[in-house]
Amino acid sequence: MAEENLHDSPATALDLHSCTHGQLLALMEELGQPAFRAKQIEDWVWSKGVGDPAQMTNLSKALRDALSERVGAAGASELARQVSEDGSRKYLLGFSDGAAVECVGMPSPRKLSVCVSTQAGCAMGCAFCATGRAGLVRSLTAGEIYEQVMHVRNDFNSRVTSVVFMGQGEPFANYDETLKALRKLNDPDALGIGARHLTVSTCGLIPQILKFANEPEQFTLAVSLHSTIQKTRNVLMPGVRRFSLVHLYAALGEYVNKTGRRPTYEYALIGGVNDTEEEIDSLCDFCRGTLCHVNIIQLNEVSGSPFKPSTPEKAQQFVERLARVGVEATIRNSRGADIDAACGQLRQRVR
Ligand code: SAH
Ligand code: SF4
Repeated sequence: MAEENLHDSPATALDLHSCTHGQLLALMEELGQPAFRAKQIEDWVWSKGVGDPAQMTNLSKALRDALSERVGAAGASELARQVSEDGSRKYLLGFSDGAAVECVGMPSPRKLSVCVSTQAGCAMGCAFCATGRAGLVRSLTAGEIYEQVMHVRNDFNSRVTSVVFMGQGEPFANYDETLKALRKLNDPDALGIGARHLTVSTCGLIPQILKFANEPEQFTLAVSLHSTIQKTRNVLMPGVRRFSLVHLYAALGEYVNKTGRRPTYEYALIGGVNDTEEEIDSLCDFCRGTLCHVNIIQLNEVSGSPFKPSTPEKAQQFVERLARVGVEATIRNSRGADIDAACGQLRQRVR
């Protein structure tokens, strides 16, 4: 039993995807190795996608063995995958405790975008969201978040150019691990993805939006709006009912003042629910005169849900009406529209 604990304990095993450069340097020192070995190991992990020390062929056999004894990865295994006609690949990854999440790789010429999950399930209960229905299983660790990025990177054997935190779960309900993951992805010693190419999407948790505004990096913020009429939003997004639109508006103003950056508002059009004249007018009022970009998204149908997508004409109408009040809006291209998505939101998000 004691021995089993020793092997399983994350405290004794170093996760190469989670550890800091400093921790790796300390380990090298402990093993009597020169400091540049840390950089070599990071190069294997982040540039070559190799996490198994046994395969790090420019290290001595003795160091490989010593590392193998010390290293334990967060360890995701691929449980299923779906490949879209447009080249997107969606994966279901499982962790050792049985929790499973989806992530997606979306290639385009010279680019590879990855969409990651931050929690297995979600506690927010949005009425139109497949993930929200099942409730929260657990939050992911930072290591488990970029494990997803590395999985996609390795599968495409290509550099990842952007990551969106728009998979399962609410990133700001798992703030610290999300931020750790963002920093690691941004770290030049790890994947080195520019902060502006790292986007976090929140359903609107105000305290965390304000906290995020004070982080030094220029990460991109997306906020799921879906309606700017409180009554409608309460029905669609019951988990954020306590963060009213009035307060959200003020918090976003503060975010913009503080950062000078443009938040993206996500708005999935649901026929007859949030695509009415009253809703368009209200959205225009919410956005007018503010720094923002609106993403109009077609709802992905979730089986058994009463909500149906709106029409492409409505989407066009939203864009035109917003343009009239000086607000930039785009209709998101659907990626992987042919892959059956249990987690419908994964499909349409690449900027
Ligand atoms: N929890 C975060 C991030 C994950 S969800 C959030 O809600 O922002 C990513 C995006 O997918 C959100 O904008 C969410 O509202 C949207 N989404 C969820 N279900 C959807 C569906 N069935 N169709 C279209 N978008 C959906
Ligand atoms: Fe959670 Fe986002 Fe789905 Fe809402 S839309 S239930 S916040 S994952």
